[in-house]
Amino acid sequence: MKTTCQVAVIGGGVVGCSVLYHLTKLGWSDVMLLERSELTSGSTWHAAGGFHTLNGDTNMAALQGYTIRLYKELEEITGMSCGLHHVGGITLADNQDRFDMLLAERAKHRFMGLETEIVGPDEIKKIAPITNTDGIIGALYDPLDGHLDPSGTTHAYAKAARMGGATIETHCMVRETNQRPDGTWDVVTDKGTIHAEHIVNAGGLWAREVGAMAGIYFPLHPMEHQYLVTDTIPEIEAIIDAGGEHPHVMDPAGESYLRQEGRGLCIGFYEQPCKPWAVDGTPWEFGHELLPDDFDKITDSIEFAYRRFPVLAEAGVKSVIHGPFTFAPDGNPLVGPVPGVRNYWSACGVMAGFSQGGGVGLTLAQWMIEGEPERDVFAMDVARFGDWITPGYTRPKVIENYQKRFSVSYPNEELPAARPNRTTPMYDIFSDLGAVWGQQYGLEVANYFAQDGEPGYETPSFRRSDAFEATGREVRAVRERVGINEVHNFGKYLVTGPRARDWLDRIMAGRIPAPGRLSLTPMLSPKGKLIGDFTVSCLGEEEFQLTASYGAQSFHMRWFQQHQQDGVTVENISDKRNGFQVAGPKAHEVLAACTRANVSDMRFMDVRRMVVGMTDCIVQRVSYTGDLGFEIYCDPMAQRQLWWTLWQAGQPHGITPFGMRAMMSLRLDKFFGSWMREFSPDYTAAETGLDRFISFSKNVDFIGRAVAEAERAEGTARKFVAFEVEAEDADVNAYEPIWHDGAVVGFCTSGGYSHFAQKSVAMGFLPKGLAADGLAVEIEILGQMRKARVLTSPLFDPDGARMRG
Ligand SMILES: Cc1cc2nc3c(=O)[nH]c(=O)nc-3n(C[C@H](O)[C@H](O)[C@H](O)COP(=O)(O)OP(=O)(O)OC[C@H]3O[C@@H](n4cnc5c(N)ncnc54)[C@H](O)[C@@H]3O)c2cc1C
Repeated sequence: MKTTCQVAVIGGGVVGCSVLYHLTKLGWSDVMLLERSELTSGSTWHAAGGFHTLNGDTNMAALQGYTIRLYKELEEITGMSCGLHHVGGITLADNQDRFDMLLAERAKHRFMGLETEIVGPDEIKKIAPITNTDGIIGALYDPLDGHLDPSGTTHAYAKAARMGGATIETHCMVRETNQRPDGTWDVVTDKGTIHAEHIVNAGGLWAREVGAMAGIYFPLHPMEHQYLVTDTIPEIEAIIDAGGEHPHVMDPAGESYLRQEGRGLCIGFYEQPCKPWAVDGTPWEFGHELLPDDFDKITDSIEFAYRRFPVLAEAGVKSVIHGPFTFAPDGNPLVGPVPGVRNYWSACGVMAGFSQGGGVGLTLAQWMIEGEPERDVFAMDVARFGDWITPGYTRPKVIENYQKRFSVSYPNEELPAARPNRTTPMYDIFSDLGAVWGQQYGLEVANYFAQDGEPGYETPSFRRSDAFEATGREVRAVRERVGINEVHNFGKYLVTGPRARDWLDRIMAGRIPAPGRLSLTPMLSPKGKLIGDFTVSCLGEEEFQLTASYGAQSFHMRWFQQHQQDGVTVENISDKRNGFQVAGPKAHEVLAACTRANVSDMRFMDVRRMVVGMTDCIVQRVSYTGDLGFEIYCDPMAQRQLWWTLWQAGQPHGITPFGMRAMMSLRLDKFFGSWMREFSPDYTAAETGLDRFISFSKNVDFIGRAVAEAERAEGTARKFVAFEVEAEDADVNAYEPIWHDGAVVGFCTSGGYSHFAQKSVAMGFLPKGLAADGLAVEIEILGQMRKARVLTSPLFDPDGARMRG
């Protein structure tokens, strides 16, 4: 056995083999896979082998499309069969919400180049004749859907990797992973120790145990899952005899997926009475056995399936496959460099290895070899969860995710499991004021404040929700008087030390401000992609506070640690510094009433330390509402005191608490982009307009400079623009196609209703030549073409007089 390699991939399931293949494909051949038994000895061997592109996250859907197209390539390279059946598939909708979701998906697919289509009950009958279409409104047909042979496919990945120079050691159990001081790893196996520069954890069912060998907790959990294979069914035989094959049918109402298997059918369920498996750890001796049949938990599902597919009622059951596979709390894989652990990479939590395995392998190989993935993969980045996550949180979330696998995902939905988890000192005060809570990165965040008679729960919807009135009221309070909300859902970092300014100048593309001032700056990757939009506040020559998205803490800290430098300390203080934002025309008067400091001479973008009430605070004059406003940061221990001070001072001015729904409406008035919508690693600074904050005059080779310079010289092919939309009861959410002259020319990044301007507003990308004021386009919202026109002047305070005044 080799004793050194560049990469040791632990785990020979479909995911480990895909990672291995993609490493060789992108140019690394000194790579090795270690498998404790035979290849496919985890979840992989008993998978149903189905694949599909449908995924609520657009980038995940694109990676699923990549995976599916890859199988032909694998067959060609290796001469092996993946047992491909591209039979197509339909996803049924039996109510308007499910149909809305499919319409929204179909719309997204237009600019992704996926040839899906919406079909009605008559066509469903033709495509999938065994379906009882009673009560069905329509379906989404995807010609790419199909199934394959899980074992053949895994071995094809393995052969392709070997052809690229990779080594595979089976019956090679990894017992320990020990890091050397230089960051490389000793991988201790039953066959000896391998010295590897990098480790990839592709341990599937045992990924938790493999992670624990390096002291890492991976938030995933195995769930039991069951599918049935029937005896021969005459109606299926007839289709086969006529030279056809029955397509896949996903029936979300029955939480089932169905496909042809031999001359019968195979049907699996995501049942509500589901069961987590191996709660305290996956036994090492588990591998080639199945779990005992458990019909009790799928009795209701089977009864439903008999009504939807009556042929099943007459069919005998040939075999039952009941096995475990792993899920992360949100159902997406855990991929990428593990924050805080050098040269340790994650490729686990992959619940749909045959839809996602190729994309996971490609992404990880790009990350390892080229330094960053080609697209925004935050939806599956292992850094989307933070240090706060525990098995006690993961388990209920994974159960929830399993149960909701076939449920409608709404843009405004707040999932209830494992909540409230993390709360600030304001939780009960805001609850008493009617707060309706959402959560971000495990933290409870007020979405809006319900008044008497208003629902204390926002009904999930693709259309304007029942939070509409409350949101409008809060927006008007900010624009007309003064609003207050917490600054808890900013990620906050303290950067200190004699080299702090030099370091920031290199890490951030923008100008680093002088003491007492703040600046806005993009943070770029070497390829010029947007990996952060920060506010940098200079509290002293050697002390800076950075603020960005709360949900990106682990993502940003990983980047800071990867670029750490002597003479600089970066500390994540997101939960150590909290406070409030006061915004609106009366914000100045409220703050002035609470402090003896002179705030009248505070200019826009000034930052100062001052005592507010009894509390030491950092006060900065800036507001994401686009209004006159202040962010006031304090020690969370003093936050309630600060609240009572500001709240009492605000009473004469009608101070009103406002939540995230109002915040997201207010930012639309100024066309302010937001993280992971307009600002994400899918886009560059010049595409989004954030290049206006890049300091080309600073004499520093900041990360991403070469690309930013090139874009400055040559321009970009697409531009970020805002639109006014003639919407009715549904506004733009994300990724709706933008049509012009009968063709799709762009897509939306986000949108909503501006309660201030009383207009539906959207933001998105258009080809540069088209992005002109007043251009008439159409935006497809839930299958309806809505007239829209390009706006170039903000709807509120277009010259910034109020914000700066
Ligand atoms: C009943 C059922 C039906 C399914 N149907 C589908 C489907 O239709 N479509 C689909 O896409 N997905 C399906 N899945 C899910 C699919 O099986 C998984 O997504 C996929 O197998 C995950 O692959 P993996 O490589 O991550 O993990 P695994 O297959 O679990 O592989 C992990 C490997 O790592 C090895 N390993 C672990 N620890 C060590 C160690 N210390 N040293 C050496 N080796 C180690 C194990 O032996 C194992 O071979 C199904 C799952 C089940 C249970």
